[in-house]
Amino acid sequence: MDSIIDGVSHFRSVVFHEQRSLYQRLVHHGQQPKALVISCADSRVVPEIITQSGPGELFVCRNAGNIVPPFSQMNGGVSSAIEYAVVGLGVVDIVVCGHSDCGAMKALLKPEALKDMPNVAAWLRHAESARHVLREAYSLLPEAEAARVLAMENVVAQLNHLRSHPSVAAKLASGQLNLHGWFFDLESGHILALDGDTGKFLPVGDRNQTLQVAVRGTRRAVADPCCGHTHGNASHVTAAE
Ligand SMILES: [Zn+2]
Repeated sequence: MDSIIDGVSHFRSVVFHEQRSLYQRLVHHGQQPKALVISCADSRVVPEIITQSGPGELFVCRNAGNIVPPFSQMNGGVSSAIEYAVVGLGVVDIVVCGHSDCGAMKALLKPEALKDMPNVAAWLRHAESARHVLREAYSLLPEAEAARVLAMENVVAQLNHLRSHPSVAAKLASGQLNLHGWFFDLESGHILALDGDTGKFLPVGDRNQTLQVAVRGTRRAVADPCCGHTHGNASHVTAAE
């Protein structure tokens, strides 16, 4: 713990001292993070570092395997973080970030490694659909690439789960939220982002390229059977007729 305590001491005496006005502003005005980031708890995957973000800029939820359990009536930490970020803080982007060399993905490929970790095994059942996709759609994949591809398919699976959460579904339907699927390559430092249009993970970071969005929020529009005009939501159609 010595190096950790030294870090605390350095933070208080140097870093916090330099950023005192920033922290005061964040206390007085509250946090207004730009995005919710759901990433793996892996110690090498630090959302604030890979995005070079400071205090108050990201609302972060980390767990083994960057899992998003599908919405259910059972309360859970990830579900609560999503709801609070979307409804309470009004974030307009959610990033699900997987990574290379992920222990959770390797365990998913070798379930016998989890025989003494029943909680991890139960948790990773939320990634079962990604494992099935790997088996069905990548039958010719060399074994050495399996964990990497599984990590990307797991991001896709968790984005699908994210859409089952009522707060997320509502904001997507009103065009107030976008979902992003990222993959952090520990070996190269590159971030790849899922492009919803092509289904491919493409590099992020080139200022000249358009931002890849996995699921773009689009305001619902329906044709009014009475006047033929298009309306932004369904309430006009269903209210009085
Ligand atoms: Zn991981």
